[in-house]
Amino acid sequence: MKKADGKAAIDYAFHCIITDITGAQLEEMGALVREGVSTFKLFMAYPGVFMLDDASIFRAMSQAAKHGGMICMHAENGGAIDVIVQRALAEGKRAPKYHALTRPVTAEAEATSRAIALAEMAGAPVYIVHLSCNEALEKVREARDRGLPAYAETCPQYLYLSLENMDAPGFEGAKYVFTPPLREKWHQEKLWHGLAHDTLQVVSTDHCPFCFKEQKELGKDDFTKIPNGGPGIENRLSLIYSGGVNGGRFSANRFVQLVSAAPAKLFGLFPRKGTIAVGSDADIVVFDPDEEQVISAKTHHMRVDYSMFEGIKVKGIPKIVLSRGRVVVENGKFTGKPGSGEFIRRAQYSGT
Ligand SMILES: [Zn+2]
Repeated sequence: MKKADGKAAIDYAFHCIITDITGAQLEEMGALVREGVSTFKLFMAYPGVFMLDDASIFRAMSQAAKHGGMICMHAENGGAIDVIVQRALAEGKRAPKYHALTRPVTAEAEATSRAIALAEMAGAPVYIVHLSCNEALEKVREARDRGLPAYAETCPQYLYLSLENMDAPGFEGAKYVFTPPLREKWHQEKLWHGLAHDTLQVVSTDHCPFCFKEQKELGKDDFTKIPNGGPGIENRLSLIYSGGVNGGRFSANRFVQLVSAAPAKLFGLFPRKGTIAVGSDADIVVFDPDEEQVISAKTHHMRVDYSMFEGIKVKGIPKIVLSRGRVVVENGKFTGKPGSGEFIRRAQYSGT
């Protein structure tokens, strides 16, 4: 909180990552929810770094349910993936594309299903972050059909990019090294369908930028050393409006629901955020639905030296952004003031 204080231009909140569970940490979860940090990100991947075992996940979920918090799950079977990665390295497979080829869709589907089962036993809601493939989507659909409070998001990279991007010449594939990895192209339409039919409730970005020069390059000779993550926050609205509304896949109302109303409700920000109403915050984006733009690192504002979406043409551009009623972006120019954003205490999970 101290790090963010006085720096942000718009309002912000936090998720808390839990990497190991002791009695004291379980107690802290309740205190955090009361302070307005009501969601916790847990990992089923990255053994030895972030990964929690099932008992710990179950304890955290039970505690979240007790205090009105919600678990956000990174759902990939990290144990199996690590074995596959070690085998690939032993066979001399070191190029960026092996990052994707060593993380099978079944690893994501299995973890998604296990996360949902653990949440069901704990009587807790669960939110699957950055869902990337049809197999995992099916698990969420099954759970929702049974009426469980299971939610999931996907991100623009899984809707626009695919394994083919990892075949880029030289080391370029490193630009698309993030987890879960890119999938075969056919998954994209399944995810769009999931967004249209509420199997997926939210589009986020998992924004986690590393520069290509000097940062991604750390993994030049070994894909496991490539920093995992990609830049995407700036392009989210245009990509989803363009592919979703202009693409004829869903309505403008559904678009607003996916990028604003649903996340505000799920994460305890509603009705302060996520709606235009008397007493709400007037965080408003004025959108030009007809303006076109070709996404490029040459023109983007993110402080990173490449774009994952380089060359993709979008139709529908945010023109004016208001934060609590004040204009902070006008015609692509930032006019706001760093430090004018404030930490938002979020309410407990209350369903949608
Ligand atoms: Zn994650």
